[in-house]
Amino acid sequence: MYSLRMNRKQYKWLLLFALILTPFFVGFGYYATSPNFETQSSQNEATDAVAEKPVIEEVYPNKVKPGSSLYTTLTELGVDGVTISQLVEAAKPLSDLSRLRPGVAFQLQFSEGENPSLEQIKFKFSSLDILKLSKSEAGEWKATQVDVPVETVVATYKGMVSSSLWESAIEADMDPNLTADLAEIFAWQIDFAREVRVNDRWRLSVERRMVHGKPVGWGKILAAEYVNAGETYRAVLFQENGEDIGYFAPDGSSLKRIFLKSPIKYGRISSRFSRRRFHPILKVNRPHLGVDYAAARGTPVRAVGDGEITYAARRGGGGNTVMIRHNSVYKTAYKHLSGFGKGIRRGKKVKQGQIIGYVGSTGLSTGPHLHFEFYRSGRFVDPLGQTFPSADPVPAGKMALFKSQLPQMVASLPQWPDMSLSMREPREEEKSKGL
Ligand SMILES: [Zn+2]
Repeated sequence: MYSLRMNRKQYKWLLLFALILTPFFVGFGYYATSPNFETQSSQNEATDAVAEKPVIEEVYPNKVKPGSSLYTTLTELGVDGVTISQLVEAAKPLSDLSRLRPGVAFQLQFSEGENPSLEQIKFKFSSLDILKLSKSEAGEWKATQVDVPVETVVATYKGMVSSSLWESAIEADMDPNLTADLAEIFAWQIDFAREVRVNDRWRLSVERRMVHGKPVGWGKILAAEYVNAGETYRAVLFQENGEDIGYFAPDGSSLKRIFLKSPIKYGRISSRFSRRRFHPILKVNRPHLGVDYAAARGTPVRAVGDGEITYAARRGGGGNTVMIRHNSVYKTAYKHLSGFGKGIRRGKKVKQGQIIGYVGSTGLSTGPHLHFEFYRSGRFVDPLGQTFPSADPVPAGKMALFKSQLPQMVASLPQWPDMSLSMREPREEEKSKGL
């Protein structure tokens, strides 16, 4: 019924949304970071050489006017109809000029002399997307994509949490998209919906892509650090021949875990694992051998790890239930689902993070929630009390390369000011709120 499959971009916005809406604490503005945007030249010498050249930015003085077509706009500028159709025809393999949207900037170049004729036209769709049409001596029009020189610099940001991670990023004048990237890098270490604390601090370095000295977008976060409740987590990007291998801790261990911290992205834990609990429906003391997450009906439920579906059907008081066998040791179960994910059937393989169902209230349940169970060697265990092993570390054969990149990556992080004076203890009510 619910098809909430998300692509990466949608997921990112959902994450952002959650970061905005999640109230962490009400804190006082006791520590204000100054805007922390600092650019440094990239480590690459060739890039530095480019940076030193005078920046000449081309001018695109003309625009396709709103309510007007390219034809009308160009005719008004003295281009004849035949030429316009030739331009549209020549551009076809690269761009459909007949459906050009208003606002697109362009520049014209005419021949010199008594009867100037159009020799070249360039359309600027974006800083990185420029189309050039030029006329050859034989009078033929040829379209080419202009190679825009993109320069990469390193930008750094740092912040401290006084109310929320989101707020601290705004304080640091950082693009909210990067907040989501930061949260994603440490998603296995920190549950950013529940575990962010006052005085948490973070810093990161990120590639910023520039064209003619102006920022046009972000590259990758190169290194990041998040200090959560006094515990420091670090991540560096490991690349080989320009390809990303992934984020790793400085010792080469993976930041990813075999299991996600939670099968629901932003659920609130409503009932913990307990060997003895009063059952709200059965009105008897009964162990609660799982963790309950309160979440809206239809919230996607994710497989916490790779595995094989061993059960996907109705099952007594558990209602719609999915069970996954991850390996010879671990199994998980997800209950009270309103429905199953696409293609979720017994015998199917699933990937970590894959949507296996949606929160509901089927079976013996007082309201929409997910009942989540973890089994280790056939016995119920408390998933919140487990430290699960890391996913694969840097491969042994690549460790030397990783170690050679490490100092530069770590050095790209911005320095901390001396914060010993501005730190304060969280107030009592803040402490308890976080628990
Ligand atoms: Zn439960």
